[in-house]
Amino acid sequence: MVTIVHKYGGTSVGSVEKIKNVAKKVAAVRAKGNKVVVIVSAMGHTTDELIDLMHQITKEPHPREYDMLVSTGEQVSAALLSLALQEISCPAISLTGGQAGVETEDIYRKGRIKNIKLKRIEQELKEGKVVIVTGFQGIDSKGDIITIGRGGSDTSAVAIAAALKADVCDIYTDVDGVYTTDPRIVTEAKKLKTISYEEMLELASLGAQVLHPRAVECAMVYGIKIHLRSSTKDIEGTYIREGNKMEVKKAVRGVALDKDIAKIGILKVPDKPGSAAKLFKALADAKINVDMIIQSVHSAGSQADMAFTVGKGDAIRALEITKNIAKAQKAEGAVCDTEVEKVSIVGTGMISQPGVAAKMFEALSSKKINIEMISTSEIKISCVVTAGQGKKAVAVLHKKFDLGK
Ligand code: ADP
Ligand code: ASP
Ligand code: MG
Repeated sequence: MVTIVHKYGGTSVGSVEKIKNVAKKVAAVRAKGNKVVVIVSAMGHTTDELIDLMHQITKEPHPREYDMLVSTGEQVSAALLSLALQEISCPAISLTGGQAGVETEDIYRKGRIKNIKLKRIEQELKEGKVVIVTGFQGIDSKGDIITIGRGGSDTSAVAIAAALKADVCDIYTDVDGVYTTDPRIVTEAKKLKTISYEEMLELASLGAQVLHPRAVECAMVYGIKIHLRSSTKDIEGTYIREGNKMEVKKAVRGVALDKDIAKIGILKVPDKPGSAAKLFKALADAKINVDMIIQSVHSAGSQADMAFTVGKGDAIRALEITKNIAKAQKAEGAVCDTEVEKVSIVGTGMISQPGVAAKMFEALSSKKINIEMISTSEIKISCVVTAGQGKKAVAVLHKKFDLGK
């Protein structure tokens, strides 16, 4: 008997009609004698709507209540899908993350999944039911609901697939695969048949919304092959799997845009050992992820400016912490700029091909796009640009690296 994990994203369960269609597909898979677990996201834009409601009461919600509220979206779709299956005589049960045994770190809003106790899921499967699990959530050591970061249902699905040692992990969404860039931004974007874990992890971490980065990380660690595909068209999508080291690769395989960033600067910090350590330790203690970091030394040599990026959701707290550190270190002050976006090119073939960075900077300059920050690794180059210029930057880079061909 084959164990199959399917995940349906928000658009794919966006209406009762769509949920009924998903139910038909799921029932057909079970009818072939498979054990089926389905992970669902909240219907359509439910999560955003819940966040809007909350913001009408407070701009800085207590993170526990945030999780309590936003996790409910997934409960609605899970229960509706279970009922839709029961209506067509397919035995089914919906479970919350906690009921399904998904245990997370004790960190509200962005806990990582630590463990999955499979007892309940396995029991229900044994009884012949389709098990529907709410994505995006688990429980912590106190039994509180923890959400695992926006877009996190993908990670719930891969983690459950890994725990069950599932034979199939299909992620159904509103595009028919992973493209060279967001097809909503560049119409010439090309669908990729396969993409390596490394490249997908970079693209996802750098803003390609199509898969949650931790889903890719989890798939890579446990060797789960993900098939990302359309929930409406019955065609092959993209396989995310181990890369073939022998392949002759294009230097660049994809371009990503991340609008969810803010830049924090600390000005004229005394240039001595320990300055950076204090700041980044304080940010880490507050569980704030820092991405790009640059430091420029003033000509006098005794002071430095430092800038780094964080997610927009962390900007206020990051600025507060940086201001406190600036004061303690007798720096001039701290500033925050949310009017920035990050554009990145990704490809494992970059390591062996010189001149990729120069080509990227040339392309941006040809459209008069100014680069505010740069960061590189062996397989990616990212540039921070002014808000509003990101889409133009993605289009010019996609063309420059011939990704549409
Ligand atoms: P779901 O609700 O199913 O999880 P998401 O909206 O989170 O779906 O992700 C799918 C969206 O990701 C697509 O509609 C597309 O606009 C966007 N996207 C961004 N980058 C890419 C890419 N490289 N390939 C495909 N889709 C992408
Ligand atoms: N519903 C959650 C969100 O909108 C999780 C997900 O869709 O994966 O972020
Ligand atoms: Mg998603």
